[in-house]
Amino acid sequence: MPDQQAFPPQQQEPPGSTRAMQPVPDHGEQSYVGAGRLVGRRALVTGGDSGIGRAVAIAFAREGADVAIGYLPEEQADAEETADWVRQAGRRVALLPGDLTDELSARELPQRAVDLLGALDILVNNAGFQTARGGGIDDLDPERLERVVRTNLLALLWVTQAALPHLPRGGAIINTSSIQAYEPSAPSIDDASTKAAINDITVNLAAELGPRGIRVNAVAPGPICTQPQPATQDPDHLAAFGGNTPLGRAGQPAEVAPAFVFLASQRDASYVSGSVLGVTGGRPVF
Ligand code: NAD
Ligand code: MG
Repeated sequence: MPDQQAFPPQQQEPPGSTRAMQPVPDHGEQSYVGAGRLVGRRALVTGGDSGIGRAVAIAFAREGADVAIGYLPEEQADAEETADWVRQAGRRVALLPGDLTDELSARELPQRAVDLLGALDILVNNAGFQTARGGGIDDLDPERLERVVRTNLLALLWVTQAALPHLPRGGAIINTSSIQAYEPSAPSIDDASTKAAINDITVNLAAELGPRGIRVNAVAPGPICTQPQPATQDPDHLAAFGGNTPLGRAGQPAEVAPAFVFLASQRDASYVSGSVLGVTGGRPVF
């Protein structure tokens, strides 16, 4: 992994493209080595087309899991690239386009994964929407706010509710929180509040589902080099992105995926539930 920041100023229009980033983020394509932690398991990763979700899909596949990927239809090219990596790991992949801000689409997603993979053991709620361009409370455009809340919060609840009848004892749910839940920044007021709520939901569900043998945890990434960064930030922002962490740089998606693997693994994390694992370059998650 790089010790130094290596991002020149750059900008894209949302939703942005992974290939157009300079350099292309590291999703573990060349580096992730599996150790059989998820052999025979079936996982659904929302937002698995790009960024952290792609790194999770690659890592899960190399650990032996079949992977279903949910994503926005316009991100088909990114999804197919992720799917290629899953197949190259010798695992099955299910491509599930659909807009999760639509309740029916969200509720259908787990069944579509089961139809194609045969069962479902692990749910990774990772799809998210954020735009940090603009100001704070004065810039809360109602449409954008609605999209953030629907994507990050309502869709997470709808997908989880629909997945639960499929999840067996030993199953796991992993939500994607954020450093923003702990250190909210003014421009991210909408996104940050959904992440705090996701932490709450994680603890809540862990308590409710523990008796059913289902573990529920979250990963809270810090600043990670993914496509929304150039898509949503000012051109110079990316060059400085992550510089305010103790480790002094942004992280790569490949550096976040192992946290998801750990929490998904019944071998490694059988007694871990209701926790939020920070992958933040040293910024606090308490
Ligand atoms: P990303 O854009 O690469 O991944 C998010 C994916 O979510 C998109 O690719 C898209 O396919 C999917 N998605 C968005 N809206 C959707 C919708 N309505 N229906 C279906 N799918 C939808 O970005 P990422 O940075 O990898 O983000 C993944 C998660 O990590 C998000 O929840 C984000 O909030 C969280 N996160 C990211 C960072 C960071 O610095 N990159 C930091 C903290 C938390
Ligand atoms: Mg994407």
